[in-house]
Amino acid sequence: MKYSNYSVVIIGSGISGLYAALKINQIANLPDGILLITKSGLGESNSKYAQGGIVAVMKSNKKDSVSSHISDTIKAGAGLSEFDSAKYISENSDKVIHDLLNFGVEFDFDENGDFAYTLEAAHSVRRILHSGGDATGRNIENALLKKIAETKEIEVYENTAAVDILCNSDKTTKGVITYNETTSEYETIYSPAVILATGGIGQLYKYTTNPKNATGDGIALAFRVNAELQDLEFVQFHPTALAIDGEENRFLISESVRGEGAKLVDADGVEFMQDYHELKELAPRDIVTRAIFDKMQHDNTENVYLNATALDKSLLEKRFPTISKKCAENGIDISKDFIPVAPAAHYYMGGIKTDLFGRTSIKGLYAIGETASTGLHGANRLASNSLLECVVCAYSVAKYLENEELKSPKKIDEKSKSVIDKYSNDVFLEEKDVKNFKKNLQEIMWNGAGIIRTEYSMMQALEQLFELSRNFHRGSKCLNIEEYEFRNMLISARLILQTAIMRKESRGAHFRSDYPQTAENGTHSIITKDELGELSFVK
Ligand SMILES: Cc1cc2nc3c(=O)[nH]c(=O)nc-3n(C[C@H](O)[C@H](O)[C@H](O)COP(=O)(O)OP(=O)(O)OC[C@H]3O[C@@H](n4cnc5c(N)ncnc54)[C@H](O)[C@@H]3O)c2cc1C
Repeated sequence: MKYSNYSVVIIGSGISGLYAALKINQIANLPDGILLITKSGLGESNSKYAQGGIVAVMKSNKKDSVSSHISDTIKAGAGLSEFDSAKYISENSDKVIHDLLNFGVEFDFDENGDFAYTLEAAHSVRRILHSGGDATGRNIENALLKKIAETKEIEVYENTAAVDILCNSDKTTKGVITYNETTSEYETIYSPAVILATGGIGQLYKYTTNPKNATGDGIALAFRVNAELQDLEFVQFHPTALAIDGEENRFLISESVRGEGAKLVDADGVEFMQDYHELKELAPRDIVTRAIFDKMQHDNTENVYLNATALDKSLLEKRFPTISKKCAENGIDISKDFIPVAPAAHYYMGGIKTDLFGRTSIKGLYAIGETASTGLHGANRLASNSLLECVVCAYSVAKYLENEELKSPKKIDEKSKSVIDKYSNDVFLEEKDVKNFKKNLQEIMWNGAGIIRTEYSMMQALEQLFELSRNFHRGSKCLNIEEYEFRNMLISARLILQTAIMRKESRGAHFRSDYPQTAENGTHSIITKDELGELSFVK
């Protein structure tokens, strides 16, 4: 076991982690330095795949306003979006966009030199900025990575997973334990500020738009130290992922393709969204997803189609170069052919409960980005609000840490020591077929807690999950990062099932065919871990 000391440790190198590292390094006093850890290589994250864009209520955009953005966010959130979160995040969008420009991010501009805005579902005005047409996430991430490379003060560990948080009995964070896959070494990193920027949970599902590393680690790490978690039952399924046979990790066909006018059609080219919602293709995501799911079941097909052939070819090439290329690689010319699409797990509204400074219920433990739940998204995220939340909350955690004393802790108690001991001891571990375990879990979650849920489907899934857990059977230590991911997936999947079973209504992305109505007064569900290690409801 190695030991080290830092003022701040950030876990995750998506847009929230990278931007937080740069801002904290710019603003805060860091006597013991700053460390960024990522379990894969730098640049591999959900962020890299974000296409459509980032919401920005720019002061220069006279057609838009904070109140209009708040109203759209709250409408999409199905009664659970927090007004204060929506207001704060919207009000700060102009500032962070200018800051991103200073960091070298290049957004697309129109022929008049103004920001080029696009429209996505459930936005009442064009307010979504993009970069490189449909490469927004990749371009923001690359610009931030370039700055990270130039900033010598920020140390980076790649191929290193955070495996446990150190937390004293008084609920104060003391650091984190990491495992480096390249050297097979564990390290205890003492730090008074640990920031979870670990992203989403898409890999818990058979079909997902998320990359391999979206395994819900932050949720599991936070639960293991009894942090409060919020709205875990709300998983957003994107309506239009490219449905190519055999591909379970599905490439996203951004909502902005529908925003620009593409239509959803069946195999005969007949439009069907008018049968489901007055806003048709631009209805809220959960509605479009369930409409497609229903249509697929009714027609007994594996997908429906997106018809973008009426759009101007040059617009398609300019606005959607990444999508055009990916489709062309699969023999689809989007200016002439229908695009086969089906829903896939996409975004996690639930997460570690935080305030707008990223503070969790554990002192010194912060969470930002997709792993956090600020209450912005409620039961259903408004398109392109997530990247905005990532950057605004990364900015505000940096502002908060500006006023904190960030000396690496000198003392830990027995509780933290016992966690370190677990990883210090050598234990013999038999190899497990973890790839197969992951596949099973993904199948269980897709069938049991997918787009349409019932008490029966979820109880059955829970039982199957317990069986899987018994077969995996690991104590604290695992053999490699993939096993740690699976350990985390088991925890996150169980918590999603348990909270979804308890929510006996349908709301936003959580749809139960046995409780199709939405209750009158919706409330957040907040959970933590009790003394016996079981889930307990705080609210
Ligand atoms: C295909 C796709 C398209 C999208 N399009 C849009 C869009 O147009 N607009 C929008 O607003 N949002 C979009 N989203 C959502 C948005 O991209 C994400 O919500 C956002 O990028 C999340 O950023 P993050 O920094 O929180 O996490 P991520 O970008 O997912 O980064 C998480 C990081 O944490 C690391 N990590 C995880 N666990 C550990 C661990 N235990 N130890 C060490 N490192 C760890 C991962 O390796 C990764 O580096 C899209 C998402 C996808 C998948």
